[in-house]
Amino acid sequence: MSDPVGARAGIVVTGTEVLTGRVADRNGPFLADRLLELGVELGHITLCGDRPADIEAQLRFLAGQGVDLIITSGGLGPTADDMTVETVARFCGRDLVLDAGLETTIGDIVTGLMARFPEVDREAVIAANRKQALVPAGAVILDPVGTAPGVIVPGTPTVVVLPGPPRELQPMWNAAIATDAVQAAIAGRTRYEQQTVRMFGLPESGLADTLRDAERSVAGFDRLEITTCLRRGELEIVTRYEPQDAAIYSELVAVLRDRHPREIFSEDGSLVDDQVAALLAGRRIATAESCTAGLLAARLTERSGSSAYVAGGVVAYANAAKTELLGVDAALIEQHGAVSEPVAESMAASALRRFGADTAVAITGVAGPSGGSEAKPVGTVCFAVALADGASVTRTTQLPGNRSDVRERSTTVAMHLLRRALGGER
Ligand code: ATP
Ligand code: MG
Repeated sequence: MSDPVGARAGIVVTGTEVLTGRVADRNGPFLADRLLELGVELGHITLCGDRPADIEAQLRFLAGQGVDLIITSGGLGPTADDMTVETVARFCGRDLVLDAGLETTIGDIVTGLMARFPEVDREAVIAANRKQALVPAGAVILDPVGTAPGVIVPGTPTVVVLPGPPRELQPMWNAAIATDAVQAAIAGRTRYEQQTVRMFGLPESGLADTLRDAERSVAGFDRLEITTCLRRGELEIVTRYEPQDAAIYSELVAVLRDRHPREIFSEDGSLVDDQVAALLAGRRIATAESCTAGLLAARLTERSGSSAYVAGGVVAYANAAKTELLGVDAALIEQHGAVSEPVAESMAASALRRFGADTAVAITGVAGPSGGSEAKPVGTVCFAVALADGASVTRTTQLPGNRSDVRERSTTVAMHLLRRALGGER
């Protein structure tokens, strides 16, 4: 399916803090997604510290790969160790020139910021920021989001220089992509459609089987570029195709629906969190959590916004807490163990009552290494969903991984049980 022309790009992520892993790179993945959406093929993401010689070596490497576009992230600050613009100018064979308009803009931004720090020497700061008004001759300037402007140096390859902080880089990338210089650099790109299907509860091998069958039964299957990824027990199936192949994709989705009607929960890329949020609109939910320590409540509140459907939650580790706070009968715990379906059901029923909610979820399980037993090893987690109309769902799962894996997976299982219960599935 590859286009004979196409457009290719490379990304240079700079910053010693990223190189050492103290800060996890968020700019590479962000830009990779945007390039993918644009139909620009990303060849490499390289990573180096703040040293100009290293940055230059990466620029040379990528240019040697014949990319049409290089995007750099980081090193645009006012301090002496921020040298990306200078390095890019040298690499592109351009002089650095002072942009008077930019100097005024940066001066204004700095004056605004300085109002909060009256004791700081304003002239010294403006002098330091003058460095940020030095741009490669002939560059396109991208207005600062923070104090640092970005630049685009048109050429072969075209180089887009963006600041390091993700909250600055992201809006500036949107500005960069709107310029003629970047559009010209990626003119050869192929326009793709991209669709995402999500499934829950299907092992990757099951999907692999289905895709093998689809390869035989769907004519033109090889015109689809399918990427599958298993994350937190959910399967994400991302398919890219050229617009004229939309019918082939529809056939693939028909096969997926036919084989896995219960497992498919999203055909439009929406996440289970979005779906649960929509289903909870106008409702009132309460949580009762043990091994997940409130993570489900936190996850539910993330999308709740102004609709505020989360009434509250209880985190009850100790058996006594389950009894005192949630009214779980001590005899029930004694008889079945704290990690059991009857206790989960009792916790959910109690959360429903205590919070005057119409929807409740309870999670009780073994996430940590010390709590396991032969009968209930680490990863044994019991769930209960209770609705005010009397409907309820109870499940026990065996989840893989360490404590944080088990906790994360548990919240995902709970979200899917909620989705099914609220959607009328059992
Ligand atoms: P500043 O003016 O803030 O110095 P800058 O363009 O010089 O901007 P850097 O000095 O490279 O940017 O990085 C500033 C901060 O931004 C880093 O300390 C880090 O917290 C964050 N940051 C930089 N690069 C990345 C990245 N690739 N991923 C995530 N965060 C990053
Ligand atoms: Mg910096």
